[in-house]
Amino acid sequence: MTTFSAELIVDSSKIISNISRLKSLISSESKFMFIVKSNAYGHGLKEIVRKLESYVDAFGVVRMEEAILVRKATNKPILLMQGIYTDHEIKVAKENKIQIVIHNMNQFKLIGTNNSELGLWIKINTGMNRLGLSQEELKVAYEKGIINSNSVLMTHMACADDPDDPMNKMQINNFEKVFNIVERKTKRSICNSACLINFPELSFDWVRSGIAAYGGEFKNLNLKTAMTFRAPIISIRNIRKGERVGYGGRKKASKDMRIATVYAGYADGIPQTTIDGTKVLVNDKQAEIFGRVSMDLVSIDVTNLPKVAENDLVSFWSEELPINEFSNKNGLISYELMTRITKRVKVKVT
Ligand SMILES: *Cc1c(COP(=O)(O)O)cnc(C)c1O
Repeated sequence: MTTFSAELIVDSSKIISNISRLKSLISSESKFMFIVKSNAYGHGLKEIVRKLESYVDAFGVVRMEEAILVRKATNKPILLMQGIYTDHEIKVAKENKIQIVIHNMNQFKLIGTNNSELGLWIKINTGMNRLGLSQEELKVAYEKGIINSNSVLMTHMACADDPDDPMNKMQINNFEKVFNIVERKTKRSICNSACLINFPELSFDWVRSGIAAYGGEFKNLNLKTAMTFRAPIISIRNIRKGERVGYGGRKKASKDMRIATVYAGYADGIPQTTIDGTKVLVNDKQAEIFGRVSMDLVSIDVTNLPKVAENDLVSFWSEELPINEFSNKNGLISYELMTRITKRVKVKVT
């Protein structure tokens, strides 16, 4: 390492093996859209698209700028999942062969009837009440003749991570109704990661998977966290029983201790609210966060690791310490940890 910094090491071979595991769960007829919104969930958009291109059938994003970046890296289909809002964006979508999601009636007006180049995905509200046409709106749109057998009818599940939640059944039933409204002519897409894991029978024509491919949601599938977020130790000191560490002196030593200060803080993406006792790895051994996370630094307890020295690397999450350990301990979700890593962190994608 030439200059000291927090680093993000992304191993794309882990994403490839996670995706192959996920594909083994679904019908071989179903196509796999890899969701790379928000800078590939923090993993580095351009590099990830290049490395994953031959393993997936399409890429999904939510911002036009990202769609264009993906188009520069691949010829695969691209879906702009939260639609378009201006004439200019429609023009750009057509020029770049970007498929779009229509989730409200204004967008239908915007695209008009001359839309044969646009691959159309029609999003239906089946109960999540966030985006999507109602059944009545879909009827109106279908009667206008814009929706055809190339269109994809899609919806999003609110509770697929909990198979017992009655909302799942309700959404599945509602989707069946809307599929009848279009005379069962369109293609279908329901599943995000949690849905394809818990309801693989709903994989239909397309699954749209992000978090599981990155290894941030694994259940018993043995999916691997593809990113290692780590930083070096820049200082070590011994403290006496009763001394306090960090802002607010939040953590007080219950005995004589050895404390290492690590070169990463909330300005790198470690949540400021991280609690004491959150596990990290130093030289493959477990240690715990000790005291409040500051902007650039965080302290860990290495009392039981006498060999740990300055320059040793501390991982906050990695294949060996799954990101869910950190997120669950702190009442967060892995998606948020992945996407909050900041610009000053050095990213290396292999
Ligand atoms: C983000 C997103 C997904 C992927 O969700 P994961 O839980 O990460 O698999 C799928 N569909 C839509 C519309 C999304 O916005």
